[in-house]
Amino acid sequence: MSSEEGEKQEECFFVEDYRTEGCLCAGCCEPITDKYLLEVSGRSWHAACLRCCVCQLALDREPSCFVRDHAVYCKADYAKSFGAKCSKCSRGISARDWVRKAREHVYHLACFACEACKRQLSTGEEFALHEDRVLCKAHYMETVDGATTSSDGKCKFLFDFG
Ligand SMILES: [Zn+2]
Ligand SMILES: [Zn+2]
Ligand SMILES: [Zn+2]
Ligand SMILES: [Zn+2]
Repeated sequence: MSSEEGEKQEECFFVEDYRTEGCLCAGCCEPITDKYLLEVSGRSWHAACLRCCVCQLALDREPSCFVRDHAVYCKADYAKSFGAKCSKCSRGISARDWVRKAREHVYHLACFACEACKRQLSTGEEFALHEDRVLCKAHYMETVDGATTSSDGKCKFLFDFG
């Protein structure tokens, strides 16, 4: 599980399919004999079995659903559980964006840049979160040296994507 790299989230759209012979429902494991099934992420479901794993909302009337680690979510719960706002630009991170994560913060790939020099930070580069601002190593050192910081060590973390 490498969640440090840009991570693709998946929104799934339903396929209504009439080839139901021999299909087992991914929800209840019973054969599907309904006149159509829902196909999500390569697995088939009874229309009635496709429910959000958090709020149990029936998803067969929703335009789409979200799948993560084989669990199915409605849009709202997916956003609550995994969705995030970019800590830099504050815009939502859509299911199709590539993201960078740093502790509890999530950034658009393009937003993950040093606040001081605006340089986009690349994989493997050391960076720091200083009072929730992203800094490259050089500017972090500058900031810390120049500041009359107390020694309580707030937000002094260097990260390495490895
Ligand atoms: Zn079922
Ligand atoms: Zn839900
Ligand atoms: Zn952003
Ligand atoms: Zn910098």
